[in-house]
Amino acid sequence: MTFEQDLKASVRTIPDYPKPGILFRDITTLLGDARSFRRAVDELVQPWAGSKIDKVAGIEARGFILGGAIAHQVSSGFVPIRKKGKLPHTCVSMEYALEYGTDHIEIHVDALQKGERVVLVDDLIATGGTAEGAIKLLRQLGAEVVAACFVIDLPELGGADKIRAMGVPVRTLISFE
Ligand code: IMP
Repeated sequence: MTFEQDLKASVRTIPDYPKPGILFRDITTLLGDARSFRRAVDELVQPWAGSKIDKVAGIEARGFILGGAIAHQVSSGFVPIRKKGKLPHTCVSMEYALEYGTDHIEIHVDALQKGERVVLVDDLIATGGTAEGAIKLLRQLGAEVVAACFVIDLPELGGADKIRAMGVPVRTLISFE
């Protein structure tokens, strides 16, 4: 098996979660497998090995697990981007598009210094609405978003292209149609 086939096989698919008709791609099985977890983290950071990354920003909640491991790997700080009302200090908030309607994500106002080089991390990119909102937040604080990394891409939903159109290189490891 290739690396991609191996990694794909470690993702569990759950039909009709959280709603009927949705195929949920569950990475808890990938995270629970030591080899898959290590290889996913190694592969996600590979293009930036050796370049200076000040912060890794992870999107709640699975982006925290991957982002924490990546931050350790590249010796950077970690910054959480969370759903509205979860962070304790003063926040900057951004509205982002969901499949139906909108929601808000937040970051601490002092989480980043202007000009810091940041890599954004989440488990999966679908429509790209969440990542788009996160990039806008990071840019609002003056960060340079050098890349966005996702283990899983759902290419039919166009999210990765949307993020590339914002001028942010996108790295994904596996895709599901
Ligand atoms: P988007 O904003 O449409 O790109 O959706 C991406 C966000 O929804 C990410 O934070 C993902 O964690 C979450 N998400 C959407 N679908 C799935 C799935 O099938 N498995 C895991 N997370 C998902």
